[in-house]
Amino acid sequence: MDQSESNQLPTIPAHPIGYTDAMELLGHMDGPLVPSYRRGLLDIDYRFGPEMLTPARKVRLEVNVETERRTIHNVVGIIRGREEPDRYVVLGNHRDAWNLGAVDPNSGTACLLEITRALGEMMTRGWRPRRTLMFVSWDAEEHGMHGSYEWIEEFGKIMSDRAVAYLNVDNAVREVYTLRARATPSLKPLLREAAKMVPWPVSTQDGETLYEVWSKRSPQTSDPDSPPEIDLPASASDYVPFVRRIGVPILDLALVHRYTYTYPNYPLYHTAYETFHLQKSHIDPDFKFHRLMSQLWAGLALSLAEATILPIDTSEYADTVREMYDWLENGYGSKFEGATISLDALESAVSNFSQAAVAFEEKLSSLQDDTDPLVARMYNDQLMQMERAFIDPLGLLYRRLNRHTILSSGLYPTETFPALGDAVRRMGSDWTSPGKADKLKELKEQLSIITFFIQSVANTLAKPASTVF
Ligand SMILES: [Zn+2]
Repeated sequence: MDQSESNQLPTIPAHPIGYTDAMELLGHMDGPLVPSYRRGLLDIDYRFGPEMLTPARKVRLEVNVETERRTIHNVVGIIRGREEPDRYVVLGNHRDAWNLGAVDPNSGTACLLEITRALGEMMTRGWRPRRTLMFVSWDAEEHGMHGSYEWIEEFGKIMSDRAVAYLNVDNAVREVYTLRARATPSLKPLLREAAKMVPWPVSTQDGETLYEVWSKRSPQTSDPDSPPEIDLPASASDYVPFVRRIGVPILDLALVHRYTYTYPNYPLYHTAYETFHLQKSHIDPDFKFHRLMSQLWAGLALSLAEATILPIDTSEYADTVREMYDWLENGYGSKFEGATISLDALESAVSNFSQAAVAFEEKLSSLQDDTDPLVARMYNDQLMQMERAFIDPLGLLYRRLNRHTILSSGLYPTETFPALGDAVRRMGSDWTSPGKADKLKELKEQLSIITFFIQSVANTLAKPASTVF
């Protein structure tokens, strides 16, 4: 296909510029003020243009972006599982960098290599994991996650059938203040437990384990005893195709500075200053925090590869879906009522998921250690199918390549089901005017779709050969 035939490639030329140039260009723009939610953090009035304040001025932007065909390489290492070789726990990190990449992605690569070295040593003593471990070094992440996307396009069916989880570490050590974690809800409890096993490598009053320091420095709420904050998956690294295309549970981990939305990055991100010197002299001189990340990542991988019953949680997922429902109901319940659209079916699907999740966990807790491998496999298959059941093969409305009905972020910022949340935002404030008929139809469709998928998820957890079939 010729580049001009693609409806996916952006048509507006874009080029990153530095602070000084940005101040100079944006500071001289004229035109109406941009709304506050679209302003940046420079100390200027943000204006739309297109004129400049001094009319005679013009800007000529030369964009030096070349299009060329390149070969990329994903490198995949495998430790074949002893008892369930057809179940894969995948660890991944990209290898390409904008510059030297000592933080992004090489701090992650150092950890991945250290894990393979340690597990390789265990293998020489005869060890093998119960399930297969895969270690992937992705190419071309920075250009649009091409390595991981194309791999999932090529092996999507196999991965959908066999992958237990995908564990991503990209910028392993940006700073050494706290952990920033993203996870599908089903893996949050596992992450909290794994963090309790890892010692914090320097002495601090905030605690002795990663979990203690992390909870203290990144609490979920203002309550000092609240668990550490774990975000839902975003759209930022090679875990995206796993979760949004094929519904594989994911984790994404990084050590960062104090994390806030106004200061989400460290200043040297993607610059030429991401050098070995930066790591060795400033961020992590003894590489103790690289070791911490290797211990955490390997601990998580081994839990998923070795446990008889997969450490995939069901009720925390149901709680997340319930929170998404509550957000919708609290914010827009009266609007739905005014338009005579009932939320009852959605509410019932959400409740069914909660009940199925609790019942499933009760069943699991009654299992013994010496569970018959076929029985264990039956429950594990159900746990794996739970995430897959959120996948809509037709994709989300207007974003067909995003197929996860819960964990594809919305086009508009909401805290509810992405496609339904978008449809709600498109309704505007007046839901009943005749001009809104098409949008209202779209909203009803999205309500049906999300109801259907949540009920399908609940069904995956039902007792085999009983209530459902
Ligand atoms: Zn990266």
